[in-house]
Amino acid sequence: MVYKNKFIKINPYSRPGIKLNGVRKLVLHYTANHGATAENHFSYFNNLKGRYASAHIFVDKNEALCIVPLNEITYQANDGTFRGVPELRPNANFLSIGVEMCQERDGSIHSNTISRTEDVFVELCKKYKLDPIKDIVRHYDITRKNCPAPWVADGKKFTDFKNRVKAKLNGKPTNSQTPSKPVASKPSTPSASTGGSVVDWMNANGMDSSFANRAKLADQYGIKNYKGTADQNVNLLNKLKNVAKKEPSKTQSKPVQTKPSAPKGDMKTTSIVTYLNSINANSSFSNRAKLYKQYGLKGVYLGTAKQNLDLLAKMRGGNAPTASKPKAPTFKVGSKVKIKSSAKKYATGENIPSSVKNKTYTIQQVKSDRVLLKEIYSWVKKTDVQ
Ligand SMILES: [Zn+2]
Repeated sequence: MVYKNKFIKINPYSRPGIKLNGVRKLVLHYTANHGATAENHFSYFNNLKGRYASAHIFVDKNEALCIVPLNEITYQANDGTFRGVPELRPNANFLSIGVEMCQERDGSIHSNTISRTEDVFVELCKKYKLDPIKDIVRHYDITRKNCPAPWVADGKKFTDFKNRVKAKLNGKPTNSQTPSKPVASKPSTPSASTGGSVVDWMNANGMDSSFANRAKLADQYGIKNYKGTADQNVNLLNKLKNVAKKEPSKTQSKPVQTKPSAPKGDMKTTSIVTYLNSINANSSFSNRAKLYKQYGLKGVYLGTAKQNLDLLAKMRGGNAPTASKPKAPTFKVGSKVKIKSSAKKYATGENIPSSVKNKTYTIQQVKSDRVLLKEIYSWVKKTDVQ
């Protein structure tokens, strides 16, 4: 490996411990910090307080250090509303890896630093199957921040850099005549914890990509004992894609007639498919999509767990299925919560400043005992929010 892992500790300011939603782009930065090495930046970000900043990999003329695991977010490229790279919407920090070139004392970037940074990008392009020409972007390209300044001033230097990464990736240190496709590299196994690209796909399609929802969908599509393994995720992704392909069905065949006012069939199941089968109705995706519309439900039917439960409730005459009734307060992605004034510490152990208490925040991610609050990028225990 061209970089060494030396991770800073989890903390709200530089390593919140939040999983990336995928890696769509690799972002090039420079540190704007004359004379500070990769090691210096490790120490700096390991002790950062009071401001949110970080990146994954720091490269100097002697070494490259990965200070935040590559499957976690860093605070590197989301400092404005401008998004020059649409694939990184809505938040570049959740969809990219940031690499910083360290500067010499005189502000220049050492040729060894540049060459080592090329090697880092070669490795990252292989690992995430990215194209150096299309998928390496400057911080500047995303937010218009003047970073890395020397290569914003001279865009050709950046183009040359990408071309050298491409040549190295293709194993051709000199100019290559072959088309720009990167050499097929060993497929990287999607990580079980993040769910790999099924999560990307679901996010891109506006679906809830939480483990719980993936598990429900997996069950619905006949994938047994969903644990989020690479195989299961690939399988699930294929099923979802198939379903999405069939979705814009223009056929005129009549949806099965079911009367909302006369509930019948299996009144216990929480699966719309089981329910439809129990009333001898067509449970195909396209029929469910028609029924969804017919029952006046909002939005495009994608077969999400929530949509299926809504449809099920409607078809049963408006009664929500029993299993979907929350026992205790449930926390959902997108809903608003307040941090209780009695709350003392974040789930990650740091003190909660009183300035953030009693204010409303949006839930971005949910885990068994904690929720991630979007506006403050912090994990808070469920018991500390209402
Ligand atoms: Zn930058």
